[in-house]
Parts: sequence; C-alpha cells; structure tokens
Amino acid sequence: MSLEFTQDFLDRLKRAERLVFFTGAGISAESGIPTFRGKDGIWNKMRPEELASIDGFMKNPELVWEWYQHRRKIVNETQPHDGHKAISALEELYDVTVVTQNVDNLHRRAGSRRIYELHGNLTRNFCMDCRTEFAESEIEYGSKVMRCKCGGMIRPDVVWFGEMLPQDEFLASEQAARDCDILFVVGTSAVVYPAAYIPIGAKQEGGYLAEVNIEPTDATRIMDVSFFGTAGEVLPQILAKARELKKSA
Ligand code: NAD
Ligand code: ZN
Repeated sequence: MSLEFTQDFLDRLKRAERLVFFTGAGISAESGIPTFRGKDGIWNKMRPEELASIDGFMKNPELVWEWYQHRRKIVNETQPHDGHKAISALEELYDVTVVTQNVDNLHRRAGSRRIYELHGNLTRNFCMDCRTEFAESEIEYGSKVMRCKCGGMIRPDVVWFGEMLPQDEFLASEQAARDCDILFVVGTSAVVYPAAYIPIGAKQEGGYLAEVNIEPTDATRIMDVSFFGTAGEVLPQILAKARELKKSA
C-alpha cells in the first residue's frame, strides 16, 4: 500500500518542528496485542467493569489478577513493530512527544524517549495499602493474587474505570498537543475520556490533526487529513517522506 499525500500535509511535514503522536490500542494490534473495541475487540467478549475497575478487583481479585497475568504474558512475548519504530526514528528530525493510552510499554521498547502514559503501564505494580512499587521481575506468575510484605494486595499500575489519570502527565500531554505542529492520532477509537480530549483540545486551539487508522472513527470529522491503513504500513511511509523533505530543506 502506497500512501497519497496532500500538498498541504507535505508542506506541514516539511516545516514542522514538533510532532505529537497520540496513540491507542490499534498501534499495538500488529504486534499481536488485541484491541478492546472494533472487530475482534476483547470487550465484545468481556465486560470492562468486571475486570478493569476497583470494584471488579475487590469482588473477584483472582479473576482480575489472572486477566492481567494473561495480558502481561502477551505483552512480554511481543515486539514493537515498524510503526512504533518509525515514531522513535522521527526523533532524528523532530522534537517528538508520544502520548499513549496503551499500557504495553512498546513505545519505550521501540526507543521513544518522551512518553506520557495516560493509562499507566502494565509492567509496573504497586501495593494497594502502602503504595510500595514492584517491578515486573518481582512479580510471581500464578493464579493467586500477590501480597506485599505489609499484607496489602498488589495491583497493576494502570488506570481503571472510575480512576483519575495521572494529572501531571495529562496536563503535560494537553500542552504538548496544543503546542505541536502536527498531532498524529494513531490507532485509537477516541471514545475513552478524558484521554479523548487531547485531540479535541488541540483542534480547538487551531492545531493540525492527522489520523492513522484502519477505518473512520468518531474523531475522523475533526481531522485535517486521514490515512487509512495499518500503523505498521502508514507510519514508516511518513518517516520516509519526512526524511526526504528534511534533506531537501
Ligand atoms: P480501542 O480498542 O477502543 O480502538 C482501537 C482503534 O484502533 C480502532 O479505532 C481500530 O479501528 C484501530 N486499529 C485497529 N488495528 C489497527 C492497526 N493495525 N493500525 C491502526 N489502527 C488500528 O482502543 P483505544 O482507543 O486505545 O481505547 C481503549 C483503551 O484500551 C485505552 O484506554 C487503552 O488503555 C486500553 N488498551 C490498551 C492496550 C495496549 O496497551 N496495547 C490494548 C487494549 C486496550
Ligand atoms: Zn504494602
């Protein structure tokens, strides 16, 4: 698949200094991590409140623990793909910020340096009572919920339904999205709030938005340009074009 670029997009890509990538589950689909919504989405089979909420965890800690063990295992067995790598390679040419809703750590493993993780990170855990943090290597795999020395239950450091997003990272993300020259919105259905305010806020400030998704989303109507294709196909082509444009600049 070869992308068609509009002149407007090419001009912006050439002039741009700051890029922000706002990413969602779709960017990790090609690494083999299932998305939540859409075709083959996990939420077609399970209810989010039962698994990704504090009530769900208190009611059935074993089930939630097992579900996260399962997701950790998937994440550890996968690799970042050419789309994740294209974003980190763009740091050669631009000031790049990644704002992700993903908890899979793949942007970091791909080499991106400035990453705001709005929904936490699956590879971190903490004690619900004393807040001690536990690295991935300290976690024992198994179906029993792990407990801290203090007796508290250990939970993944991810934002569950009904919980606050990390405020500093959220504010910094909003700022970066407002200040950048192009905001790329990649692989997100843009329906999970407050994260979905990031593109809306940038648009209200007159920002330029470019979407990368396999299909139109609720956010498509506010985009300046949309590239329909997989993240792994589209992002490397944008990187190649940017290298070409910056070389001739
Ligand atoms: P979502 O599941 O709601 O939407 C995924 C979007 O990605 C859809 O619009 C779909 O069309 C698109 N998509 C699917 N495959 C694609 C591909 N190969 N290339 C480009 N786009 C593709 O995901 P969301 O908007 O991120 O919201 C869901 C919530 O789920 C987030 O809060 C996130 O924390 C969490 N989540 C994270 C992971 C992960 O860390 N990898 C996985 C599943 C869900
Ligand atoms: Zn503790």
